[in-house]
Amino acid sequence: MEVYKFGGASVCDAKSIQNMAGIIKSTSASPLLIVVSAMGKMTNKLEALTRSYLFDDGQAHELLEEVKTYHYHILNDLFSDHNNPVFNDIANTFVEIEWLLEEEASDAPDYIYDQIVSIGELVSTKIVTAYLKSAGCNAIWADARNYIKTDNTYREGKVDWTKSEAEIQKYLLPLLEKSIVVTQGFIGSTSENFTTTLGREGSDYSAAIFAACLNATALTIWKDVPGVLNADPKWFAETERIPQLSYHDAIELTYYGATVIHPKTIKPLQNRNIPLYVRSFVDAGSPGTEITALNAPLPVPSFIFKVNQVLISIFPKDFSFIIEENLSDIFSLFHKHKVKVNTMLNSAISFSVSVDQDEQKTDRLIKELSEHYKVKYNTGLELVTIRYYNQGTIDRVTENKEILLEVKSRHTCQIVMKDKTAIE
Ligand code: ASP
Ligand code: MG
Repeated sequence: MEVYKFGGASVCDAKSIQNMAGIIKSTSASPLLIVVSAMGKMTNKLEALTRSYLFDDGQAHELLEEVKTYHYHILNDLFSDHNNPVFNDIANTFVEIEWLLEEEASDAPDYIYDQIVSIGELVSTKIVTAYLKSAGCNAIWADARNYIKTDNTYREGKVDWTKSEAEIQKYLLPLLEKSIVVTQGFIGSTSENFTTTLGREGSDYSAAIFAACLNATALTIWKDVPGVLNADPKWFAETERIPQLSYHDAIELTYYGATVIHPKTIKPLQNRNIPLYVRSFVDAGSPGTEITALNAPLPVPSFIFKVNQVLISIFPKDFSFIIEENLSDIFSLFHKHKVKVNTMLNSAISFSVSVDQDEQKTDRLIKELSEHYKVKYNTGLELVTIRYYNQGTIDRVTENKEILLEVKSRHTCQIVMKDKTAIE
């Protein structure tokens, strides 16, 4: 039993869907479950559509037309026979959004978001399944909402593992014995069968849930990069592929912001000792990265770069100690405003944290912190995390930077810094 996950970039046009079908036709993996995301950047578009609808700015119908045009373009490229039932199926799926748009927006924005945005995955998997069939694969479409059961935290559904595993074992497993099954990443449903989503970029996590509940022998995530690299090519000119990685390092790297896999993906796999392969759909023959319980450090230092950081320094107004008297209060405010701490450092009477700048969340947090504490903050900063650092690597990334905060543990160094040219 294997699980393959294909993200938006691997199904962004007809050519990439044909490429994906090539990978599936040439694999010997069987039984095989295929988890697919929305095509290209469609989730962003559907998010914009949802906002337009909720704010009633008059753009929603136009955005829906753009979403439809994008998908029909791909359909026309893939299928010369317009009588293929997939055309009807897709049209009917979009009707769900049309119905919603006709109603006045209710006061449950997160619920609405999930009902609209999930259409991206439903449509993409229907197109992919129809194409695989037309290319001679024995593939069927399955609705992930029948298997991934969540609570009703819309936009961030918490998975009910017991229920999901029971549904997967009872109903999905028998399907997989008969054919390849294509299903959606990112989506699930509540016990009342309302659609939920698992958080942005959650398809990797979905694939890991399916792999764990099926006791799969492996999960492969097909990407547009040759595997897990020691740095993001977007920020670093020279990068190296890491051939083998431990679950532990994979969790650390994704936690600090490596975007190659979703941070929640590793734990379910690690719990059941299922290897994760990250491989290139552009070069399917190349080895990629293998993530297992391996007990060895990374062969090269790894760099994770984040921009748009805000460094917040908090001082008690009465000179009381941070740790004893104030830390739990401060953390509860971070929790309340859903602001994730990227790195932190405390002294006797101050506490500094670096967080992602988010117009709404960070402003609200700083405002409430300021009611109780003296607060200073700097914006427009960069955060670099080096796993398996040494002085050479630190010097390399801090060239021409002013360092505002530096935190080191045995294997990890984090530096909050500012471009010197930006200061002048
Ligand atoms: N389509 C969803 C997103 O873009 C889920 C995913 O791609 O993993 O967030
Ligand atoms: Mg996506």
